[in-house]
Amino acid sequence: MKTSENTSTYFSINNTSMLSNSTSILEGPPEKNSDDPFDIFNLVKTELGPPIVQCHKISKVYKLPGVEETVKALYDISLDDNCEFYPVKRGEFVIIRGPSGGGKTTLLNILGTLDSDFEGELTIMNNKITKECTDEFLSKLRLKNIGFVFQSFNLISTMTAFENVCLPMTIDNKLSDKEKKNRAKNLLRRVGLEDRMDHLPSELSGGEQQRVAIARALSNQPDILLLDEPTGDLDSTSTIEVMNLLLSINKFGPNKDNTNKSTIVMVTHNPELECYANRILYVQDGVFIKQAINEYQQALTVKEYLDYINSNQ
Ligand code: ADP
Ligand code: MG
Repeated sequence: MKTSENTSTYFSINNTSMLSNSTSILEGPPEKNSDDPFDIFNLVKTELGPPIVQCHKISKVYKLPGVEETVKALYDISLDDNCEFYPVKRGEFVIIRGPSGGGKTTLLNILGTLDSDFEGELTIMNNKITKECTDEFLSKLRLKNIGFVFQSFNLISTMTAFENVCLPMTIDNKLSDKEKKNRAKNLLRRVGLEDRMDHLPSELSGGEQQRVAIARALSNQPDILLLDEPTGDLDSTSTIEVMNLLLSINKFGPNKDNTNKSTIVMVTHNPELECYANRILYVQDGVFIKQAINEYQQALTVKEYLDYINSNQ
């Protein structure tokens, strides 16, 4: 297994079949399984479900305050069945990559309904998102269906890890106190922080804070997780811990019982992490320039990750 220069993907490009100028399929090694059905290192093809996020010709112009000048950040971005960039499907792990300023964050914010001031059509789980949608409708949709994770964690500094994870459930107000506590504890256990529940963010490492942020994002059992450079502030070991956790949640669900498996859309500038995704979308100057499809998702050990980085330098 070796990186290819032009795709930066972990698997060899020798077997790559090009579907068109802008879509390539990267074939992995044959399936091989350990006996543990929840082993993220098992190579198993993922069965993807129906479309969950679709968009058609999305454009975004930022108006700058006090001046007439505008910035066009996205041009006619489509993820739909009428083009090769098909919709995000349930269970899919999508990585969005591309140079700084290319429009990745703008796109993720639109897909997550944080920004509804755009041209074009967006459908999330059969909900049409338009400029006319009320803030109340959008915030309910986000609270129930979408989990967010940011580069800088964005935890509430005066709350413990446990309280941070409880917060979205408290706002949603559907569970009893006991149910909330149980779910928060289970999630913190799932992200490997059972002994850190009562710590404040300032008492946790960057990697631990990001794992709390992931547990918090999962607390209302969202259909989709959106992550903007989640490993951007992390060292190599924490990066791999976070990525392996995300892959496990994507493949086996937050409870590791094959239910509620998270669909993931993650922005990263890090080519070494492409092997975790089913599909990589490359964004540059506000458009998709190409995509690559991994036949297999691949977890890495820290050593493999470091070897891979060093071999690329
Ligand atoms: P990326 O995440 O790929 O680095 P962004 O989506 O942040 O790219 O930015 C895309 C373009 O939009 C850049 O030219 C950036 O300067 C511009 N931009 C982003 N946010 C704003 C904003 N709030 N106001 C004006 N321009 C913005
Ligand atoms: Mg960005």
